[in-house]
Amino acid sequence: MHDKSAISLGRIDRFVREWIAPAVVRAAEPLNFTFWETPDEPVTFDEAMTGQFIPGEIGMPWGKPWRTTWFHLLGQVPQSWPLPGTRAELLVDLGWIDAGPGFQAEAAAWNPQGDLIKGISPRNHFVPLAPVTTDGNVDFYVEGASNPDVPGGAWTRPTKMGDKATAGDQMIYAVRQFDIALIDVEVEALIADVFALRGLVDVLPKETPRRAEVIMALENMCDTVDPENVQGTAVAGRAQLADALAGPAGASVHEAYAVGHAHIDSAWLWPIRETERKVGRTVGNVLALMDELDDFRYAFSSAQQYKWIKEKYPSLYERLKQRVAEGRIVPVGGMWVESDTNMPGGEALVRQFVAGKSFFKREFGLDPRSVWLPDSFGYTGSLPQIARQAGMRDMLTQKLTWNDTDIMPHSTFWWEGTDGSRLFTHFPPVATYNSVLDSPEIEKASRDFNDKGPANKSLVPFGYGDGGGGPTREMVFQGRRLADLEGSPKVRMSDPDEFFDDALAQYGEQAPTWVGEMYLEYHRGTYTSQHRTKRGNRRSESLLYEAELWATAANIRAGAEYPYEALSRIWEDVLLMQFHDILPGSSIAWVHRQAEEKYREIEAQLEDLIRTSLSQLVAGEGEKRELVANSSPRPQSGVPALGIGATETTPTSTLKATEGGWLLENSAAKFTMSKQGLLTSAYDMAEKREIIPPGEVGNLLQLFRDIPNSWEAWDIEHHYKRVKTDLTDVDQIDEVEGPDGGQALRIRRSFSNSTVEQVLWLAPGEDPTLHILTEVDWHEKQKLLKLAFPLDLVTDTSESEMQFGFARRPAHDNTSWDAAKFETVAHRWLRAAESDYGVVLSNDCTYGHDVTRMRTRTGAGTLMRVSLLRAPLFPDPVADQGRHVMRHALTLGATVRGAYDHGYELNLPLRPVEVANPAEENLVPLVAVVGDIDVAAVKLAEDRSGDVILRLFEPRGGRASAELELDFPNAGVEVVGLLEEPGLHQDFLNLTALDTSDGIIRVTLRPFELLTLRVRR
Ligand SMILES: [Zn+2]
Repeated sequence: MHDKSAISLGRIDRFVREWIAPAVVRAAEPLNFTFWETPDEPVTFDEAMTGQFIPGEIGMPWGKPWRTTWFHLLGQVPQSWPLPGTRAELLVDLGWIDAGPGFQAEAAAWNPQGDLIKGISPRNHFVPLAPVTTDGNVDFYVEGASNPDVPGGAWTRPTKMGDKATAGDQMIYAVRQFDIALIDVEVEALIADVFALRGLVDVLPKETPRRAEVIMALENMCDTVDPENVQGTAVAGRAQLADALAGPAGASVHEAYAVGHAHIDSAWLWPIRETERKVGRTVGNVLALMDELDDFRYAFSSAQQYKWIKEKYPSLYERLKQRVAEGRIVPVGGMWVESDTNMPGGEALVRQFVAGKSFFKREFGLDPRSVWLPDSFGYTGSLPQIARQAGMRDMLTQKLTWNDTDIMPHSTFWWEGTDGSRLFTHFPPVATYNSVLDSPEIEKASRDFNDKGPANKSLVPFGYGDGGGGPTREMVFQGRRLADLEGSPKVRMSDPDEFFDDALAQYGEQAPTWVGEMYLEYHRGTYTSQHRTKRGNRRSESLLYEAELWATAANIRAGAEYPYEALSRIWEDVLLMQFHDILPGSSIAWVHRQAEEKYREIEAQLEDLIRTSLSQLVAGEGEKRELVANSSPRPQSGVPALGIGATETTPTSTLKATEGGWLLENSAAKFTMSKQGLLTSAYDMAEKREIIPPGEVGNLLQLFRDIPNSWEAWDIEHHYKRVKTDLTDVDQIDEVEGPDGGQALRIRRSFSNSTVEQVLWLAPGEDPTLHILTEVDWHEKQKLLKLAFPLDLVTDTSESEMQFGFARRPAHDNTSWDAAKFETVAHRWLRAAESDYGVVLSNDCTYGHDVTRMRTRTGAGTLMRVSLLRAPLFPDPVADQGRHVMRHALTLGATVRGAYDHGYELNLPLRPVEVANPAEENLVPLVAVVGDIDVAAVKLAEDRSGDVILRLFEPRGGRASAELELDFPNAGVEVVGLLEEPGLHQDFLNLTALDTSDGIIRVTLRPFELLTLRVRR
């Protein structure tokens, strides 16, 4: 037979597009409307009701960028409506543009009583009639948000649309439709039938009989449906498709567990305040759809987003709660937001779960058990342990399908963290978190599932994200038709818990294991972009730790009130800003401007809390003297860890001008600086060892061209290395007083449009550490600034501090996996070492870096570089412009232990405290750890019982034991999970880590083990 299928399909497609699809609206009546534009920011419903509404007409322009326009709509439902076989509803078109849903105008429909009824977006633009109609009179409001299309089709070009301050005031939309419409439900069903079969044709192999049969059925449908009377012949048309839709699917086909979802970025190409509304609209849609369709469930993550609904949309929240109780809306993830996992510190990642899970428990009595991070930019090897100790068993992501180099080998597997904790993990092979649930996507899920044979199940999250409204009717209709259809994988409506239970039962025993971090081979610029946001995060984390420590001490020692409310409010803000487009620096200017403001507020509030706690702790009368508070978990300058005392006086370092430049010297090291301010020698006196390779220089600022192929703020590509300028020219060098009061060298350079000033000084006494304070006034475009130290060390790995431990990563390009890690993330320190000798570079606010093998005159060496600044142009065209301050320190001969100590020193510096005869016992640390175990948090329990929570971890990646001396009355110590509740999640904890049998509190930890102790008062 001749193959006429292409012609047949062309006929079918045109017939559906031009005759069947338009026939779904049987009749439409326009509504009358008035409108009112808010003066500036969004207002509440009640405030909007006081607005001066004026008459409007279809076609009128509306909507300056980022503004809000309220429309009031009135009309009558024709008396004969609805006719049999129809449904009446309201249709709104605010002038949708080609940008995807969520990336343009959106709206919410409100009833006159002030309840949000439903969200409205391009592919979800109906409003149900019943909630806004009384006796046939329609009366409702539409809150239109004229959010601009920020990229405007170009994801690399600078745009002014990313900030209300620069977006201008041109109207960017025009009202197109406010109608009451009569929907023909048979035509609607016919469209869904056709769509399911037509999608199947696209994925079935050409030679299959099934494909030919389906095309024949579709052609028969076209013959039967009368283009001049589609509505009258739709039933007959459907009958032609009935056999083709009858199934069944093959016995061994893949099973797709379809889960309704909307991935809503908590800020990105819109500010946080707009996300609050996006979440409201989306939940409005989901609830409206659930009233209509009873067979889908909706996975909803991020406690923060629930909290917004609770505060802003109380009636919606009540309806949401009801659906949660029914199990149809399923809280997932257990975290405060879908955070980045590379940069948040250990305690912050813990608090993502503590704040998230406490919220879900308090509000719904639920204990979510699946981590839900489909979109974060790589996953730290510390996450499995943190998640397990918060009671999580499973994890979902898909981001590693974005890798630019390697393909992750598994779809369903055990992910084993650095410490050995495991999460049962799934990467949906559909490779999207915004599926539309059509045949091509379901087929992709089946085709790309990596564990065929022993397993055949995958999860498919479906729904438009980011304000697009989540799942739609049309998606659910497809899910129903693909449930058991010949030639297609099976689709079942499900939820993540059901999926993970079934997948674990089927595959838990045999599933493979992936060990250590899941590095995203993409978005490597997110460790560096938007430096001020990153600095704000680091500073906030350190100050929160200090504030909790000293507030606990002040509570126990001086009976001071513990600032529960203030601390939890600040934590919530910090956790929100760790969202995976804020801390990574990939949001619009507006978001980062607000984040910087918020971090400044937080810093002031925490400094105030710390000052108050310390003054309560050292209160006394008499002559004043100065002591210092040491919040580091390690002794500093003779002051015990977590204690208050006087610093030991140590001999200072010296700075001498020499013929070739300067010499910084103390009893442990000599650092030689050239007249260009470059480090030409770093000599370790104890080891009698030179660290700078011959002919090389350290403290070298390097400026690279940094033009990624597409995602400006997100990506550094390997080709950045090709165009480099070493900034060796110097404007001026002076001897000055250093920040510690000793002698220092100040170096000023200018380059391109920018200037940099560095102050370098040597630690006093026996500490072989060179301190560097760098201030940059940065006015570059698409440049990357790095600070480089070539080292005479031979190693093939480097160590980077991560949460409660460190990651060891390759320093070479042997395999594609190694080569792809050409830019990586570290917290407070990174270290390169030979077997018995290491060099540490610590910092107080940077994250991105690279450590690689290099060739030197004497052979192999190591190049250690930290990334200081970038200047991407999209989505924030002024990202990183202006002034930045950062600290680094280079330590010779440092062990891993020493690396932590220096990291603490820079991030938790000694804090001066003025005292006058304080109670001496108040200066003693609350907790003394005798042994090589570090304290990560000292705080009062979240349940406000007054019990003390201690978080400890093994830092070196070995076995450690320690004795704990508690210097306060207590009624015993026990191991708890991160939720701090005795007995909760015990199966996930190591209860044998604690031994108090002989009256001594003894803790024994495995490599990188995290332990939370609850001390009863
Ligand atoms: Zn996202």
